[in-house]
Amino acid sequence: MVALVFPALPTVTLPVTGRAERFPVRRIFCVGRNYAEHAREMGADDKEPPFFFTKPADAVVESGSRIPYPSATTNLHHEGELVVAIGKGGAMVSEEGAQAMIWGHAAGNDLTRRDLQAEAKASRRPWDMAKGFDKSAVVGAIRPGMLPEARLRCSVNGAVRQEAALSEMVWSPAAIIAALSQMVSLSPGDLIFTGTPAGVGPLNRGDTCKVEIDGLQSASVTIA
Ligand code: MN
Repeated sequence: MVALVFPALPTVTLPVTGRAERFPVRRIFCVGRNYAEHAREMGADDKEPPFFFTKPADAVVESGSRIPYPSATTNLHHEGELVVAIGKGGAMVSEEGAQAMIWGHAAGNDLTRRDLQAEAKASRRPWDMAKGFDKSAVVGAIRPGMLPEARLRCSVNGAVRQEAALSEMVWSPAAIIAALSQMVSLSPGDLIFTGTPAGVGPLNRGDTCKVEIDGLQSASVTIA
C-alpha cells in the first residue's frame, strides 16, 4: 500500500447497459471533423486524415445530469457523437486489430465553447479550454459488444438539430483507433468521441440536449 499525502480521487466510472458493474474511464480522446458535411460547415476540407484532441477523464457527465452553463463562454455548442469504449489496449494496430479492442459503445455529447475554439484557431493556440473544460463530456450508458448500422440524432428541447447515419463517418471507428494507436498506446478504459455530424449549434440556460443512437441509451444533459 502506497502512502499518499491526501486521498486520491476515485476513478471516474460510467454505467453499463444490462450490468451492475461500471466501466472505469481512463482517458478521453476526440476526433475532429469526421463527417464531411460538418467539416464543410466548419470551413474545412473533408478529406483530411483524422486529428485528435483530448478531454480529462473527470470531464465526464452521466446522462440525465444538470450542469451549470460553463464559465468563460457565451457560445456553448452541442456535438452529438458516437463514443467507442476501449476494452483491450494496443499500439500501432491495424484496422483489423482495432476492431478487437472495442469493448462497447455509448451516445455522447462533446460540449464545446465554440467562441473559445474560434479564438484558438485564429491565434493558433491549443483547443484545451474550448474542449476539455469541466463537465464537457456527456456520455450515456456503455453497451457492450458491436454496434450494427445505426442513426444518430441530437435534439434540443425535442427539436432535432443533428441527424446522420453512423456510416456517413469519414473514418470508421476501427480506422480511428488504428490511426490514434500510431500516436499513443491505447489502454482499457479509454473512450473515443468519434466526431459530430452537421448541425452543431448553441445551448442556452434551461435547454435539455439529448443525443440518441439506435440501440444505445441516450445521453441527455440539461443546462441549469
Ligand atoms: Mn466533437
